[in-house]
Amino acid sequence: MIILGIFILFCFGTALGSFLNNVFIARYDPEQSLFSPAHFMGRSRCPHCKKTLSASELVPLLSFIFLRGKCASCKKKISFQYPLVEFVSGYIVAGVPFFLTKFYGISLLAFFSLAAPVWQYFFLGVWTIVFLGLLVMFLIDMKHYIIPDEFHVFFIVCGACIALIYAFHGNDFFPFRESFLQNYALILSPFQGIISRRFFGAIVGGLFFAVLFALSRGRGMGMGDIKLAVSSGVVFGWPDIGLAIFLSFIFGGIWALGLFFRGVKTMKDKVPFAPFFVCGLVATVFFGHALMSWYFSVFRL
Ligand SMILES: [Zn+2]
Repeated sequence: MIILGIFILFCFGTALGSFLNNVFIARYDPEQSLFSPAHFMGRSRCPHCKKTLSASELVPLLSFIFLRGKCASCKKKISFQYPLVEFVSGYIVAGVPFFLTKFYGISLLAFFSLAAPVWQYFFLGVWTIVFLGLLVMFLIDMKHYIIPDEFHVFFIVCGACIALIYAFHGNDFFPFRESFLQNYALILSPFQGIISRRFFGAIVGGLFFAVLFALSRGRGMGMGDIKLAVSSGVVFGWPDIGLAIFLSFIFGGIWALGLFFRGVKTMKDKVPFAPFFVCGLVATVFFGHALMSWYFSVFRL
């Protein structure tokens, strides 16, 4: 039952990834709204010869494997981004609910036999689309150096849903699940309670980037990064957002070192920050608690 459920979610996720990739990433145009109707029009086409793809060429992952990454009519190479996004999206749709049922103490069997309360599906569903949103934002920022404003609205709405559901049903979960740092959040946060932690996270995250923005006169960080810190602060709250920011600078530093050792001496004027930030958030969610226990055991605090 559980394996079947995960398999179905994975397949659904790859199809969703194919849709997200086509509509929101490949067709994204910084001049237009993310939800511009033009992006939703028309069937998927080959990016080279513009031939409309047939149903058998649209099967997520499998089409790419059977066609060996080439368009069936013009034989030109199709970007590896297509199967990669499909796979990651499938992994998110199957993996996030799986991870979170364990994290919150929701019965996996009840969840996959559709016997869990409706709010639990909604709760894990919102978390899942947060991660899909992070994936799409990651790729758009990497390609266009821009974080469309729609993402901030999206994250704030999702964050508010998560906090409200938790406020009503948090007692059904394992203790200390307001934060992915679990019990360590008690020492690291001046506020307890999910709603005040979310507010505090949004304010601290936004202020931190606003200060960086002012110090670098808008060259190091963009306005989009400030807004992203606020909106993801609403989703993840304090102290998670603090750890995510810290880790994103470490990832960014490792990246810069990598460029340095490969002999790339001049840094580009613009470096998209969202990809590092997304990595920081993901690391906080999955490894935040482990990182904290390691940190506190090494320094014996
Ligand atoms: Zn083609």
